[in-house]
Amino acid sequence: MGLLSGLEEFGLGTMQNEEVFEKEKPKTNENGEVVAKERSEMDVLLDRTFECVVCGKEYQARMLKTGKAKLVKQDSDLRAIYDISDPVKYDAVVCPHCGYATLARNLKAPLTSAQEKLIREKISINFKGIPVPEAEYSYDDAILRYKLVLASTIVKGGKNSEKAYVCLKLGWAIRGKAESLPDDTPDKEKVLAQLKAEETECLTNAYEGFSAAFSQERFPMCGMDENTVTYICADLARRVGRLDEALRLASTIITSRTAGERMKDRARNIKEMIKEEKGEK
Ligand SMILES: [Zn+2]
Repeated sequence: MGLLSGLEEFGLGTMQNEEVFEKEKPKTNENGEVVAKERSEMDVLLDRTFECVVCGKEYQARMLKTGKAKLVKQDSDLRAIYDISDPVKYDAVVCPHCGYATLARNLKAPLTSAQEKLIREKISINFKGIPVPEAEYSYDDAILRYKLVLASTIVKGGKNSEKAYVCLKLGWAIRGKAESLPDDTPDKEKVLAQLKAEETECLTNAYEGFSAAFSQERFPMCGMDENTVTYICADLARRVGRLDEALRLASTIITSRTAGERMKDRARNIKEMIKEEKGEK
């Protein structure tokens, strides 16, 4: 018996099967199949206000809301791919007033007065501002920002690991751009080859920077433990064609007493890929 039972005698018997509250109907496509509600990239972004550690002025930085994008897969060098948006696009942050730029994780890290002076004298004095996109960033917006982060990191005398990490992220932004290049791009093959060359240059710098950091710095580096950095270096070496180095580093992970099984599997996968590249399979 429903809420509307008893209406039969008034000639409204069919009303019994009516729903009192209409259920929200799932969105369907033209074949009547249920489709997931589409989210736009802007749905997972927000603007957060920061105070610049160099000029002291406030500005807004666009960021990914935490937990809103879902991890779909990881490239062999641990670049994460999400179902919506690409966090790599929002990790490089530039103060629009003075040009000081850093990775989001270091936004609040204070500089020494000597470093501030260097940023003012070598960056701010020449900085002409940066266009702030109204909506989501393009990969070109991100690539420009990473270059400014690299400039600030060099000027302030950042560690080799910091510079290496910025180069790695810049390489990932370039890879993201290549992967999302529209099919109707003029001279697409040529553009892709150019982007591949730029990515390889970034990854080579990242590999060399981390390699230098191994003997000069302590772990964690940029929030990563020794096994993670070793693993990333193994894959970077593979990607830039230093296959013997890649094999040596992958073996270090495989025989490590502290590396987890998943990472060891990844390292074995690197060895497999190199065997295939060398035509041993
Ligand atoms: Zn500033």
